[in-house]
Amino acid sequence: MTDHSGKIFPTPTPETAHYWAGCREHELRLQRCDSCGQHQFYPRSLCSHCMSDQLQWVVASGAGEVISFTIVRRAVSEAYNPEVPYVVALVQLAEGPTMMSNLVQCDPESVQVGMPVSVTFEDWSEQVSIPKFLPPGGRSQVVTTESVQSAVINPDAPANSLERKATGYRSRRGRGGQDTLLQ
Ligand SMILES: [Zn+2]
Repeated sequence: MTDHSGKIFPTPTPETAHYWAGCREHELRLQRCDSCGQHQFYPRSLCSHCMSDQLQWVVASGAGEVISFTIVRRAVSEAYNPEVPYVVALVQLAEGPTMMSNLVQCDPESVQVGMPVSVTFEDWSEQVSIPKFLPPGGRSQVVTTESVQSAVINPDAPANSLERKATGYRSRRGRGGQDTLLQ
């Protein structure tokens, strides 16, 4: 395992513990509101769209798109020196929310706004795994139609919005060629 000591580790709170537990399982978990159907990230105790407390956890497809990024060439601390230059990106998930993360296993100069990406996880310790994103052709751990459909933790809840978003994402992605999402 790569040495990640000295980096900024997350401290789970009651709102985020389930999210971080999911990352440890290499699942990207989002909250979805039963009242309005929207997904949200980061985790909160109320829906950021309608203030409902009727939130449930679902597993995201892991698919997203770069909407902004920067290339970091001077690390924020010594612990990150081995990784420069690295990409910090805003990724809009197929389910709607935006996450800040890193793009990995790619040439930073090749990154573009609009690039489709998929989640992967770095294991930083026995307890902590961090979600990162891979560009097309990266080694993806996600996304078949089956995995999206089975991703709903609460089987009684409708999965329609998640499936619809994921399907829309796949259809936008046609130009890439090596399309693991089309399995
Ligand atoms: Zn809501």
